Amino acid sequence: MIYRCGACGGLLEVRHDLEALRDLRTPRSWKALFRERLSAIRGFHRSGVWRYHELVLPDLSPADAVTLGEGNTGLYRLEALERRAGAGPLHLKHEGQNPSLSFKDRGMTAGVSWARRLGVRAVACASTGDTSAALALYAARAEGLAALVVVPRDGITLEQLGQPLASGCRTIRLDTDFDGCIQLLQELARLHPLYLLNSLNSIRLEGQKTIAFEILQQLDWEPPDWIVMPVGNAGNVSALAKGFSELRELGILERVPRLAGVQAAAAAPLARAFSEGAPEIEPLVAGETIATAIRIGNPVSAPKALSAVRASQGVFLQVDDAAAADAKALVDASGVSICPNSGVAVAGWLQLVSEGVIGRRESAVVVGTAHGIKFSRTTLDYHRGTSPAGPGAHANPPVETAATLEDLERAAGLACG
Ligand SMILES: *Cc1c(COP(=O)(O)O)cnc(C)c1O
Repeated sequence: MIYRCGACGGLLEVRHDLEALRDLRTPRSWKALFRERLSAIRGFHRSGVWRYHELVLPDLSPADAVTLGEGNTGLYRLEALERRAGAGPLHLKHEGQNPSLSFKDRGMTAGVSWARRLGVRAVACASTGDTSAALALYAARAEGLAALVVVPRDGITLEQLGQPLASGCRTIRLDTDFDGCIQLLQELARLHPLYLLNSLNSIRLEGQKTIAFEILQQLDWEPPDWIVMPVGNAGNVSALAKGFSELRELGILERVPRLAGVQAAAAAPLARAFSEGAPEIEPLVAGETIATAIRIGNPVSAPKALSAVRASQGVFLQVDDAAAADAKALVDASGVSICPNSGVAVAGWLQLVSEGVIGRRESAVVVGTAHGIKFSRTTLDYHRGTSPAGPGAHANPPVETAATLEDLERAAGLACG
């Protein structure tokens, strides 16, 4: 159970034997294999993570896999946004369609399966709400694997708090923020045999990089010009960068997309370091934001993410809560329910288009990281006009009226005269 290099202290990274993989199949034959597995009705390869088994964790035996058929999430064109911005094509990869309603399931099927292979007894994580839900769910499926999650007392939603409780996971609420939770948990893990499944765990990133694989497969292996995603601890952006670069080395991809990592203004150490051209981030104390899943002042994968985004000719930027809330409302109203953190990414796309960083004819895929239903309070506040982010431009408040036919008719806008 090690996560960092003994010599330099940097996070470990999984390195695949790309030469062996190149010898195994041609790019064409890899694509044919992945296409064939798409038609699986059940079993290991039906998962949108394990469909790419050989490129994810080739040493994992399918018998050790703990899977809920994760991945296989929708890729939706957002025409209403395209018209508004006068740019496109724009797609949203809806990772909220995973079993626990966020992309964290992709990392957890890998991490919990690996825990089983290692024979560990207990897994743990600190979380802003989605990692804990995913860990609890997969640990429950694993049977016999004890799970512990540590969350900030006030930093996660009611729906997210209910998830690990329902899965039978020991759930500890601490009177601190995420950065405080992870620090204490790491100290605890030095004293007790706990396998940590935060994104400092390199195995998790192997699962998460399949977001990149699936997007490409859904676009018939034609890469978009840009991938735009919300960034908190910066594991996911590092994972996608790794996925794209491996596909290029295997000859499956000719060019990799540029990456745009979007942060909430209240917790934007990477955006700040990027705009200052600094070699590394300055950790900060995160302020309040509706994007609670990315409210992190000291991202553990910051060095990996900075170099990956720079290498892709990409950018980091920040947006405020009002822009994120309006962007979420626009996407929600187009029939795709997203979370405020995904709203941060959509607002980032709008901003990059308006600044001309993303050209009007450049294609982009925004990664929607969790489902809107996990953040009902934020949605209700927005539409009722009680959001801390201020009044929304697209608010659709509920109408309350007395229970008579006349009142109902008036409220429905059907009264004549
Ligand atoms: C975890 C999470 C993120 C951020 O991912 P990182 O790997 O921490 O950068 C964004 N959105 C949601 C909904 C998340 O749960």
